[in-house]
Amino acid sequence: MEKREERRKLSLVSGASSGIGRAIAVREARAGRNLLINYAGNEEGAKETERLIHEAAPEAEVLLFRADVSEEEAVREMVDAAVERFGAIDVLVNNAGITRDNLLLRMSAEDFDSVLRINLRGVFLLSKYAGKYMLKKRSGRIINISSVVGLHGNIGQVNYAASKAGIIGITKTLAREYAGRNITVNAVAPGFIETRMTETLPEKIKESMLSEIPLGRFGKPEDIANAVSFLASDESSYITGQVLLIDGGMRA
Ligand code: NAP
Repeated sequence: MEKREERRKLSLVSGASSGIGRAIAVREARAGRNLLINYAGNEEGAKETERLIHEAAPEAEVLLFRADVSEEEAVREMVDAAVERFGAIDVLVNNAGITRDNLLLRMSAEDFDSVLRINLRGVFLLSKYAGKYMLKKRSGRIINISSVVGLHGNIGQVNYAASKAGIIGITKTLAREYAGRNITVNAVAPGFIETRMTETLPEKIKESMLSEIPLGRFGKPEDIANAVSFLASDESSYITGQVLLIDGGMRA
């Protein structure tokens, strides 16, 4: 009997032009999946992610897609483009995120809104439009990147904490809504990971954070990517609605 070629699965990773999203995209390619690399403006960064994927997994197909995850039409177009090119969205990683830190009294309403728009509305939109195809196919994996700040709060991050706590609410609700169709929805909550987002923090704050981490080091993007790829794999099929903290024991 002729052996049927199995379709290579697709992972759509939002905000994959740097940091954690890039590491997730490369790890997903290593795990045997094709990639849609979403980015907002950093095309050079997205191309670098593509180059690293080709280096790590030459057989992986890659599509770069510029889209603001908070724009409904852009998200719809991106999801449709992914399905047209790859036939399905098997894994959605909602990773795109920004910070606009300030103490509450100094925080502008614009900075509150923009963080909520990108970090939370973005997850809502992508989960809705990609979820539509997953529901039809009766399978899928959604992994949302939250933060320990969404569980424990952090001075100067009211907007960010609200968005990351909201992501946990979306995760637990969608896990219930989608469970009957064999779609799992989980969140990963990183602690302090060395990326562009954290490199500008003052040395004093970094030192005090380090002293709170039992494993004695900051996390690397790959520490998050490894867990995401497990949650994206077939091995995690009985895990849904969970929040996995990856913080070197900071909140143990
Ligand atoms: P990063 O290096 O700044 O990467 C952020 C990514 O999000 C970039 O690829 C950026 O694309 C993309 N992005 C921003 N706005 C977007 C939009 N409107 N539409 C689409 N993409 C957009 O930061 P990171 O540290 O890797 O953060 C990745 C995720 O991990 C975020 O959700 C963050 O909150 C979360 N996280 C990070 C840490 C940490 O310690 N680093 C801890 C907990 C959680 P462009 O470059 O093209 O703008």
